[in-house]
Amino acid sequence: MTFPIRARLTIWYALLLAGILVAVGAFLLVRLRADLVGGVDDSLATRAAQISLGLRNGCEGEFADVSDASLRGLPQGESGAQLLSPDGRVLESSGDLIAQNPLLGATELQRVMGGERFYTTLTRGPDAESFRTLAVALPTGCDAAVVVTTSLDELERSAHRLLVLMEFGIPIAVAAAAAGGWLLAGLALRPVAQMTAKAAAIGPERLDERIEVPRTSDEIQRLATTLNSMLDRVRAGVEEKRRFVADASHELRTPLAIMRSELDVSLRSDDLSPPAREVLSSSVEEVDRMSATVENLLLLARMDEDGMWLDRRRVDLLEVASVIVEQMRPLSENDEVSLDLEGPSVTIPADRERVEQVLTNLVGNAIRYSGPGGEVRVSTWRNGREAGLSVSDTGPGIPNAMRSRIFERFVRVDASRGSDRGGAGLGLAISKEIVDAHGGRIWLEPQNGRGSTFVIALPTGA
Ligand code: ADP
Repeated sequence: MTFPIRARLTIWYALLLAGILVAVGAFLLVRLRADLVGGVDDSLATRAAQISLGLRNGCEGEFADVSDASLRGLPQGESGAQLLSPDGRVLESSGDLIAQNPLLGATELQRVMGGERFYTTLTRGPDAESFRTLAVALPTGCDAAVVVTTSLDELERSAHRLLVLMEFGIPIAVAAAAAGGWLLAGLALRPVAQMTAKAAAIGPERLDERIEVPRTSDEIQRLATTLNSMLDRVRAGVEEKRRFVADASHELRTPLAIMRSELDVSLRSDDLSPPAREVLSSSVEEVDRMSATVENLLLLARMDEDGMWLDRRRVDLLEVASVIVEQMRPLSENDEVSLDLEGPSVTIPADRERVEQVLTNLVGNAIRYSGPGGEVRVSTWRNGREAGLSVSDTGPGIPNAMRSRIFERFVRVDASRGSDRGGAGLGLAISKEIVDAHGGRIWLEPQNGRGSTFVIALPTGA
């Protein structure tokens, strides 16, 4: 699963922060505990020294008084002292907690009697309470060790309070930082989102537009500059291609026209054998088809370069349609296709020549692809702020897979069908350009059964 960059940044930021807080918290906890234990150790050392000093007059008898007085600074009821003989017997003890069992084992006692200050943490009682313990040998003249111990209960409680605070505090801090990170990441990425939207909107027909470059001297500015220079290169490439198509079409026009007139002259000759006449006639058809394709290419190239200039006047669609239908009648009769016109008279502002061009394409296709016995019906209509024309036929229709692409350039349903009947797949693309320039729509009606229906809708200007 992939997350958007904003979510990824936030997740990484929150995880990193959580890791840092946990590490710092753990360090603080360990440090705090060590410092507190250090303080307890100092205090135990002081008590042990006081007891040692207090027993100046001998080892026995006074221990309870001396140690009780020395233990006064330690937690009441949770501290105690023992006097141990070198063989581990408890000679004296004081304080509430100290049981009669010796606090030190034989090995530890041996080390203490050897002169070592021995610190240890013992666990005692049903609650496994921790006791910090110090054992030192008494000065010479008194063959015994004094053991001072105090509970670490209070210290453990402080450490536990800090742990609980961290358990609540860290998730809250991480959640707050994640929310902040989410907002900041959104703010930082907003220019990128705006650039993406702008770049996505720049299509082939809007290659003049550029992305706004923020004066921030950062990655965002560099991204905008890079995208703009890429658009410059794309535009240069597209213009070069358009110029090439326009130049090539233009160059082909004259030789084709010359070929056509030379073929006409040759066909006029009386001493042509029938096969030669047939070849020449077929060449005339091919040259005508090629000329039409070249004219269409030139038209599209000009439209791309300069846009389409429309000479809008009031035009009656029924009247235009009747002119085209009459023009196409010889073709329909030749192909044995019936051609009918119906509908109301609707007048709209439009470029008459361009509308005629669209209708010639649509009716021409309908007749061509219907074949003998077919029917073509042209109708006018008006519906609120739109009026238009429909051209239906009983031909093979357009396969579903091609319907969405049928108005694209050079799209033909099947090349073999197009090669002997139609052109290069530019007629519908040109029709769409013309209808778009009028602010209208062109579409292919959903097919039910045989045939196809192309519809154009133009604004009535009302
Ligand atoms: P062409 O000049 O090749 O006819 P068009 O752009 O006018 O180019 O049409 C594109 C393709 O759409 C045609 O090649 C043809 O296959 C298909 N087509 C167009 N109109 C019809 C129709 N009325 N019936 C069936 N197929 C059609």
